[in-house]
Amino acid sequence: MPVGLVMLADHLERHGLAAGVLNLSVELLENPRFNVERFIERCGPGVLAFPLHWHSQLKDALACLARLKRRFPQKTTVAGGFSASLFFRDILALPGAPDFIIRGDAEKPLLALCRSLLRGVPGLARVPNLAWRRQDGTVEATPQSYVATGRDLSGLSYANLDLILNKENVMKYSDEQEAPLRRRPGERPPDCGKVFYVAGRGCANECSFCGGASGTQALANGRRGAIYKPAGTVVKDLRLLLAAGVRKVHFAFDPLPRAGYYPDLFSRLRRAGLRFKATFEAFGLPTERFLRAYAEALPGSRVIVSPESGSERVRRLNRCDFYKNPDLLSRLALMKSLGLEHTVCFSVGLPFETRRDFLATLRLAGKVKKLCPKGEVFMSPIQLEPFSPLYRTPQKYGASLDWTSLKDFLEQKPRTLGYSAGLMGEREVWEKAALFNRAMR
Ligand code: SF4
Repeated sequence: MPVGLVMLADHLERHGLAAGVLNLSVELLENPRFNVERFIERCGPGVLAFPLHWHSQLKDALACLARLKRRFPQKTTVAGGFSASLFFRDILALPGAPDFIIRGDAEKPLLALCRSLLRGVPGLARVPNLAWRRQDGTVEATPQSYVATGRDLSGLSYANLDLILNKENVMKYSDEQEAPLRRRPGERPPDCGKVFYVAGRGCANECSFCGGASGTQALANGRRGAIYKPAGTVVKDLRLLLAAGVRKVHFAFDPLPRAGYYPDLFSRLRRAGLRFKATFEAFGLPTERFLRAYAEALPGSRVIVSPESGSERVRRLNRCDFYKNPDLLSRLALMKSLGLEHTVCFSVGLPFETRRDFLATLRLAGKVKKLCPKGEVFMSPIQLEPFSPLYRTPQKYGASLDWTSLKDFLEQKPRTLGYSAGLMGEREVWEKAALFNRAMR
């Protein structure tokens, strides 16, 4: 579930509008006979809002949206998120499209839209970042004039989990990486009480494969570079989340790995006496200063590092914030000595990668395993992301694209990539990832 949904609902509530979040997939996993139409009839909302973020979720989310729009034609439907922002013209042209799309940062536009609908006077021209289809089929859009700043983020809270209408089930499955139905018999049940926390927005980098890269975010959200939520307000949120029963926090925002933001945040957490198990997704190689502050504040926590390839050449050509293999190994050794756990994520099939590079990845992964046999190491191919650098400039990466439109993303098949860099075929890429993961078990 996108982390921003709880914040959006909270923002509406703070301004006097009742709002709630339903995680429909979790509800259907828990109760396959759950009837969302009946649920909506009972709750009676005037506006139905849908997140359209990840392209792999688009097809189902749009189908659900179209179904509910048919069933409740009198209710206003609105969508937002990365994919909605990037493909807003194409989405508004689909049958069963939402009435409105909010492009980019949504808290202020959504509040302005709801207020305007409540007043009964549309006044849509005054709602920033909004797009809709006129009766003649053309798309009207207001300027994308709301781009949140760090100061805006300080007034937003991500901690009001009570606004999740099926909170109990959401928390029950909150530590699942895969759909729980895929769990094999005898496998451990999910941990409860994990939340993702994103302490800012944007990124300054342009990694080849990334749908959250700087140029992509400029198109989707009107933002280049990154902003952070002031650390004091993050501490406040985390205090509330822990009081609500959260036991694990997954930090998933690290656009400036050498900045002092997190060491400062961790020392604030320590001073505030807030202790919990965390997972930190490092976008680059965490600095020594970061690791020491992290281990001191949140002992026994985990760091996820993604060198992508064992070949430094492939890493340099695809990833920003380059580091060498010996640096990775020495930082992992430091994590071990500080009592931190680690997960190292590799990929395969990246632009410019050859079979020899894959062998280099296997060799590096072997060294990582030798250093810390209990550490997690895995590999996952990366599918084409809409408007990523690879999508925008495939020629720069020697790639040709199979997915070039919204329709292609909607019709994607499992175990495809959406592009070919010519050095390894799609099938080989997925087979190599499976082989790698078997070898690392
Ligand atoms: S993968 Fe690269 S571009 Fe994408 S969010 Fe991480 S650092 Fe930024």
